[in-house]
Amino acid sequence: MSHIIHRALRTVPLKAVSAQGITITDEHGKTYLDGSGGAAVSCLGHGHPEVLATLHAQIDKLAYAHTSFFTSEVSEALADNLVAHAPAGMDRVYFVSGGSEAIEAALKLARQYFVEIGQPERTLFVARRQSYHGNTLGALAVGGNEWRRRQFAPLLMDVGRVAPCYEYRDRRADESQDDYTKRLLAEIETTFQQLGPERIIGFVAETVVGATAGALEPTPGYFKGVRALCDRYGILLIADEVMCGMGRTGTLHAVEQEGIVPDLMTIAKGLGGGYQPIGAVLATSKVVDPISQGSGLFQHGHTYIGHPTAAAAALAVQQVIQRDGLLPQVLSRGAYLRAALNDRLGTHAQVGDIRGRGLFMGVELVRDRADKTPFDPALKLHSHIKAQAMRNGLLVYPMGGTIDGQTGDHVLIAPPFIATEDDLDQIVDRLANAIDTALLSIK
Ligand code: PLP
Repeated sequence: MSHIIHRALRTVPLKAVSAQGITITDEHGKTYLDGSGGAAVSCLGHGHPEVLATLHAQIDKLAYAHTSFFTSEVSEALADNLVAHAPAGMDRVYFVSGGSEAIEAALKLARQYFVEIGQPERTLFVARRQSYHGNTLGALAVGGNEWRRRQFAPLLMDVGRVAPCYEYRDRRADESQDDYTKRLLAEIETTFQQLGPERIIGFVAETVVGATAGALEPTPGYFKGVRALCDRYGILLIADEVMCGMGRTGTLHAVEQEGIVPDLMTIAKGLGGGYQPIGAVLATSKVVDPISQGSGLFQHGHTYIGHPTAAAAALAVQQVIQRDGLLPQVLSRGAYLRAALNDRLGTHAQVGDIRGRGLFMGVELVRDRADKTPFDPALKLHSHIKAQAMRNGLLVYPMGGTIDGQTGDHVLIAPPFIATEDDLDQIVDRLANAIDTALLSIK
């Protein structure tokens, strides 16, 4: 009997008891390859000795100090490090404890910016269907993940909704990639105009979509177009890189590959690599200066913001990534992983799409490759794949169901940056086996 309210209330998950490198061991001594870093979190793997040593030293020196009294050397150093590597102009940082908190802070910072510059009539956000921005109420409101939102609907603020950039499913056969991108941008502009651009605070989007669609990349020029539209109507662009950021796609921030600078950007998972709960909002001075020159107070705050131990873990993780040149390694190992997935699953009758960037890859399952018919959501193929993968000693992050009319099963693969080619081969091997076994079990 467990007193914890687990995610699924009628079952108690296995206990994880130890972890090292890219493996986690459960209470029965079974070892799993961490093929998704949890949920794209463990970028350095588990038990990294330097991160642990830094953590121990920080706990001995200063475990915690409340930010209404103090800042700390280590949180200042982490902010300096993040700004030194951020897109040009993103030179302010707000620390929180995770991704949802980062989104909440970004939404509130954006709203307060407009209040302080004398545009309080801006109260709306626009976001995309098939998106996930977290589970707190503000984050759920901007998220487009209907099954997560449904039961909380009256509590959620109203958000303008546009199509995701989902080329595999939504680009018409007779449409070029460029025309598809233009169509999406035209829809965004129409939505801005219909809602009244003077009422809109911000456009919120994951640069590369993670949890709802399995490493869905934007088409070339999409985010440049979004940036231009936001500029045209004075709307802030909020990039959610909680999952796809901090090196996962091969550059520290995925927006670098889009050639744009957002006004606000949320980061979390890979920031602390799972060693401590930490997230952050990166902000431009454009957004922060009017507040500091205006009321001088961001109306926000949590007990654990700027937590020194969390900051120490994140700083150590980022310093190891920088020192060991792990971002180029994400690109080279990512190319290896993509080739291995293509080799093993590229012609599989039930694999419709293999996509992603760096060590952030997705596989979409379909009943029929030709017409891309998804599996009946009631079959819960993704759950079968997850269970079978665990039987095979592999952790991957599958998702599925019906999301705003889009039905489909996906698997997200996001191994630690330190995974070797041999590890990646094993991940692909165990995944391919799990997919085949799961398909047999639903026939
Ligand atoms: N934003 C994105 C893009 C995410 O993928 C997630 C979590 O998966 C969140 C926000 C929420 O982060 P957290 O679970 O740390 O609250």
